[in-house]
Amino acid sequence: MIAGVRTRFAPSPTGTLHVGSARTALFNWLFAKHHHGTFILRIEDTDQKRSQSIFLKDIQESLEYLGIRADEGPFFQSQRAPVYQQAVERLLSSGHAIHHEGAVVFQTPPQPVSFNDMLHGTITVDTSLFERLVLIKSDGTPTYNFACVVDDADMRITHVIRGDDHIANTPKQIELYQALGLTPPQFAHIPLIVGADRARLSKRTGATAVADYRAVGYLPEAFVNYLALLGWSPGGNRELMPPDEMVQCFDLARVRKSAAQFDQQKLDWLNGQYLKRASAERLAVLFEERLRSHGLLSNHVDRAWLARIAALLKDRMKTLQDLEEEHTFFFVEMPQYQEEAVAQFLRKPGIAQFLGQLKERLAGLSTFDTQAVEAATRGLIAERQLQPKEAIHPVRVALTGRQVSPPLFETMSILGRERVLNRLDHAATTLAA
Ligand code: GLU
Repeated sequence: MIAGVRTRFAPSPTGTLHVGSARTALFNWLFAKHHHGTFILRIEDTDQKRSQSIFLKDIQESLEYLGIRADEGPFFQSQRAPVYQQAVERLLSSGHAIHHEGAVVFQTPPQPVSFNDMLHGTITVDTSLFERLVLIKSDGTPTYNFACVVDDADMRITHVIRGDDHIANTPKQIELYQALGLTPPQFAHIPLIVGADRARLSKRTGATAVADYRAVGYLPEAFVNYLALLGWSPGGNRELMPPDEMVQCFDLARVRKSAAQFDQQKLDWLNGQYLKRASAERLAVLFEERLRSHGLLSNHVDRAWLARIAALLKDRMKTLQDLEEEHTFFFVEMPQYQEEAVAQFLRKPGIAQFLGQLKERLAGLSTFDTQAVEAATRGLIAERQLQPKEAIHPVRVALTGRQVSPPLFETMSILGRERVLNRLDHAATTLAA
């Protein structure tokens, strides 16, 4: 264990939180937690034109969804002008910086800079190839490289874990540390995330914002588990890892150096695994939230009833979104009937009569539990000498509007007598006729 670890996540609120940035946040958080260190959130909002409060809100909500909580911060660069001013005065008086056309620029001594990256090993860059580094722009705001160094030093950051796309900035930042007489932190540059086409993960190939995955209904622990495995492997073929185990095992040395490919199927699989393991009571709460936001619930809803639905669905759902995409028939007066299913299973000789009889049978039951419903339905099928399949498909369509549904008898019991009778009646008199 390394003592006194301090890491930070430093997003700019100029867009929604990208999956790649979320993984950067996660690795910083995991590294800090693994070493019993401190994780800091710093908002790099010096670009006032591009920084927006809706993006800040998105970043904060997304981090909350992921369960990544800062031990210190958020600190806002826009509120730290005096700190940068002080640092710039020092560089001006030591001759490391000069005024130039209203800006303050760094006087880069042309020399190679080397640093030891925790992932890539020694990286050497000839900084004389760089353009003059601006520290304070003519509008008075600090540049990213300058504010980043001043803050990382001020916040006593020990390890900077960030995307590969920042490798070119690191030598510039190291020169600034040296000019300020400060010791640079350790750096670890982690590989980018690419889409199925091996190009940088972009909107073109799928969702890139954490908020989109949240909206689709990935459980936070599944999404975090998936993000952690993007580029990191705990070893021993382990895949399913709740956050506390990830914290225990996390090791930068096991982060791959090559780009990590986003694999939607694996994410879906992991989410399915976590859904299976989630309790019906917890899922009932999540269901209620989703259904309300889709206007699919009346004011009062029985949690225990939702939990029955959750218990029935959790083994067969990929994401929570399946609820409003495939299972609204639980929550509305009448299902939406798929025309194809109606044509194929209801518009057949004898079906209207059978559904009518089933309605009478079910109306006379003393309880409406799964066994009673199943026994009554199977009894009628046997009496009428029907093939079970021939009879069960039409009932499924009549009750759910669809050809595929969760196990039928349990579904009927959950729907309840009133809705089942109404739907059978509607199917018998209107659809099947
Ligand atoms: N605001 C920078 C970014 O979002 C931070 C980079 C860094 O971690 O130093 O890319």
